[in-house]
Amino acid sequence: MRVLKFGGTSVASPENIQRVKDILENNKASRQAVVVSAFGGITDLLLNISEFAANQDESYKKGLEEIESRHIAAIKELIPIQKQSAILSKVKSDLNVLETLLEGSFLIGELTPKLSDKIVSYGELLSAFIISEYLKSQNLDATFKDSRELIVTDKNFGKASVNFSETNQNCSQYFEKSSQSITILPGFVASSLFGDSTTLGRGGSDYSAAIYAAALNAEVLEIWTDVSGMFTANPKLVKQAKSVSHISYEEAMELSHFGAKVLYPPTIQPVLDKGIPIVIKNTFAPQDTGTHISASANGTGKSVRGISHVDKITLISLEGPGMVGIPGISKRFFETLALGGISIVLITQASSEHSICVGISEEDAERAEEALNAAFAYEISIRKLKPVQVEKDLAIVALVGENMKSHQGLSGKMFSTLGKNNVNIRAIAQGASERNISAVIEKTDVKKALNSLHERFFEENIKQLNLFVMGVGNVGSRFLEQIKQQRNYIKKELKLNLRVIAISNSRTMFFDEEGISLKKWPELLSSGAPADTGQFFEKIKELNYRNSVFVDNTASDSIALTYPEYLKNSISVVTCNKIACSSDFDFYKELKSLSKKYNAPFLFETNVGAGLPIIDTLKHLIVSGDKVHKIQAVLSGSLNFVFNNFNDSTTFHDVVKQAQEEGYTEPDPTIDLSGIDVMRKILILARESGHQIDIEDITNDSFLPEESLQSDSNEAFFESLKKYESDFQQLYKEARDADTKLKYVAEFADGKAKIGLSQIPKGHDFYNLEGSDNVVLFFTERYPNQPLIIKGAGAGAEVTASGIFADIIRIGNF
Ligand code: ADP
Ligand code: ASP
Ligand code: MG
Repeated sequence: MRVLKFGGTSVASPENIQRVKDILENNKASRQAVVVSAFGGITDLLLNISEFAANQDESYKKGLEEIESRHIAAIKELIPIQKQSAILSKVKSDLNVLETLLEGSFLIGELTPKLSDKIVSYGELLSAFIISEYLKSQNLDATFKDSRELIVTDKNFGKASVNFSETNQNCSQYFEKSSQSITILPGFVASSLFGDSTTLGRGGSDYSAAIYAAALNAEVLEIWTDVSGMFTANPKLVKQAKSVSHISYEEAMELSHFGAKVLYPPTIQPVLDKGIPIVIKNTFAPQDTGTHISASANGTGKSVRGISHVDKITLISLEGPGMVGIPGISKRFFETLALGGISIVLITQASSEHSICVGISEEDAERAEEALNAAFAYEISIRKLKPVQVEKDLAIVALVGENMKSHQGLSGKMFSTLGKNNVNIRAIAQGASERNISAVIEKTDVKKALNSLHERFFEENIKQLNLFVMGVGNVGSRFLEQIKQQRNYIKKELKLNLRVIAISNSRTMFFDEEGISLKKWPELLSSGAPADTGQFFEKIKELNYRNSVFVDNTASDSIALTYPEYLKNSISVVTCNKIACSSDFDFYKELKSLSKKYNAPFLFETNVGAGLPIIDTLKHLIVSGDKVHKIQAVLSGSLNFVFNNFNDSTTFHDVVKQAQEEGYTEPDPTIDLSGIDVMRKILILARESGHQIDIEDITNDSFLPEESLQSDSNEAFFESLKKYESDFQQLYKEARDADTKLKYVAEFADGKAKIGLSQIPKGHDFYNLEGSDNVVLFFTERYPNQPLIIKGAGAGAEVTASGIFADIIRIGNF
C-alpha cells in the first residue's frame, strides 16, 4: 500500500486534478490510499465566511457563492455530461447543508469551535468526493471513503488529538474489506467518538496521510505539493534555495516546527514510529526526485541542512529581583502558559536567573500577558517582579541540521552574518539536541536574514551584491556597460553575483527586485517612475536586501547629503562624487564613523585620480603604520590636458573648449580651471592621511583673471578667456623660455596645502606628464627621499567607471 497526499494547490483547478490522475495512473502500486486537501483557497474562504456569518455580516453569502461556483465548475469540466447530474445533485445537497449551517451561525451571531469544524470540513469532503467521481469517470478503480468514519479524535475542535487505537483498528478493518485499488480520502477531517466532525489543525491533511500510512503499514508516504521537496529555505523567499535530497525525520521535524510549511509538523511522528519513509514530490514536476525523509539522513554530511523561519512571534519576558534563587517561578510561569493552552515556540533563560523569556505565537500574546500578570500579581505588587513584558512583530529564524553538534563555530557564523547585515537579534536559543540554533529577530528583517544566512551556509561560493545606481551620465552609463560585460567573468572567477536592482537619473527611476536587464536599461529607465531621491532611498530601505550598495555617479550636493541615511541602514556607499569627502570635516568624519558603526563600506577611490589606486594605496600605507610627510601631485586631468595642448599656435580658449567637449572637464569648466577641483582632491588626500583640514586651509594661487573666475555662465567664461588670451600666451612664453613646462601642482606638507600653476623643469617627475595623466608622489616615513609614485590616466569616464567598479569588488571581498 502506498499513501499519497495532494495538497491544496495540487487540486486547486480541474487542470491540476488531471495531473493528479496522471500521477496515480503512472504509480505502479496495486493499492493507493489518496488523501486530498480542499481545493486551494477553499479552507481560508470557509473560515472567513464563518467569521462573517458569526458577525452577522451578510457578505458571507458572496463567499458561499464563490465556493459553490468553484465546485460546480470543477464537476462540469472534469466529468462527462451524462454522468454529471447525480454528482451535481449530491454536491448541491451538501452545499445546501453548508448554507444552512452558516445561516444558523448568522442568525445566532455566534460560531462555536464545534460548528466551525463542521463548516470547514466541507472543503475536504467536497474535493475528495469530486475527485473520486472524476477518477471513476476515467475508468480508474477508485472509491471515496469519508475520513470521519476512520479517524477518531477527542473533542478539541480546530486541532483535535487522534485516538490511535480506535483509528488504527478502523483503518485496518476498512482496508482489509475494501478492494478498490484507489481510495480517495478527505484530509484534515476526522470525528469524535460521539460523531462530531473535527479537524486536525491548519495544514493537517499531511497529518491525515501520515495517520493512514502508519495504520496501514504503508511502504511509503508521498506528499505531493507545489515545490520539488523540502528546500534549504522557503523557496518563495530565497531564490537560491535548493531541494534537499535526503533528510532525517528529526531534521524534517525541526524544519517544519520552525516554519517549513511544506510539511505539517505532527506528520512525522506516526510514520517515524514505523520507519515508513516520506517522500515530498512536486505535482507540477513529477520527474523531480524531491526529498526523501527517513531514519538515516544519508546526506552529504553537511552540518546545516536547512534554514526556516516562523512569522508572527511575540516575546514574553518575566524579570525582576524576586526571581533570583527562588525556586518554582519557572514552574509557575510555564504552568500558567500550559493551563492557558498556549504553546511555546522557543525558550531562553539567562544563566543569571534574572529573567525568563519565551517566544509564543502572536495570536496567544494577549492571553499570555493577562494570565501571567494574574498569576504573579502578588510578586508584581510587592515589586519582586516587573509586569510581564511583551514584544511584538518578531519572527524566529532557525538553522537546522543533525550534524551541527559536531561542527564548531556555527552560531558564531550565524550571528556574525546577521550582525554584518544589520539584523538585530532579540533573543537566541539553541536546542539541547543541538539540532537547531534559533534567533528572534524583527519580522521586517526575515527575508534579509534568510537570504544572508542561506548565502553564508549554502552558497559559500557565491556572494550576491545588490546595486542601486544613481546617475547614468558619462560615468554611470559606462559603469553599467562594464558590469554587463564582466558580470559572468566576475561570477565565475570572483564568486560575486552583481545585480543592479535600481537605476535613477534626474528624470526617472526604475526598480526591478530581481535585477534589471542591462541589455535594455535605457528603455526600462525611461519607462520608470518620476525620479525622487527620497523615495529612491525609502524603497531601498524597504527592500532591505543584504549586501546593498548605493552607487552615486552624480556630482550633486543634495545626493551627497543622503549618504548618512544609507550607511545607517548598513547600505554601503560607493561614489565618484567628491562633495561629501571635501565638504565640512565633521560631515566627512560622520560618514567614516557611520560606515564603521554599521559595517557598511564607504568608498570613494575615484574622488582622486579617477581609476588610479591612490586612496586605496594611501589607506594601506596608513593602516600598516606609515606616516605621510608630504604629498606632491598633479591631480587635474583637465588642467593637464589644457597645458599639454596649449602653445603659441593654439589659443587658450580653443584648448579649454576642446577639453570640455572631450569630457575632460566638469560640465562647468570653471570648477577645474579655477583649481577648486584640485583643492578638493588634495583636501581628500590630506584627510585620508589623517589630517584634519578644511577647504579654507588651502592656499589657491589661481592663474585665471578675476573676470573669468567671477563669470556667471559658461559663455561669459569662454568670452573672458578670449579677452585675456595675451596673458595666457605670456604664461606659456615665460615657461618655454625657462625651458620648463606648466603644470598645475598640488602640495600638502606640514599640515598645510597649496595649489597653483608651476613651471616644471626637465627631469622632474612631473615634466613628462602626457595627456590627461595624473601623478601623485607620497613622501612618507618609509619612502622619505624617493617617493611612492602613482601615475596614469586620471580623468575620463571609462577609467572613472572602472574605479567605481573596483570599489564594488572591494566591497564584495569585504
Ligand atoms: P500544500 O497545499 O501542498 O499542503 P503548502 O502550501 O502547505 O502546500 O506547503 C508548500 C509550501 O511550503 C511551498 O509552496 C513553500 O512556499 C512553503 N515552504 C516553506 N518553507 C519551505 C521549505 N523549506 N521547503 C519547501 N517549501 C517550503
Ligand atoms: N485544507 C486544510 C488547510 O488549508 C488542510 C490542508 O490543506 O492541509 O489548512
Ligand atoms: Mg500543507
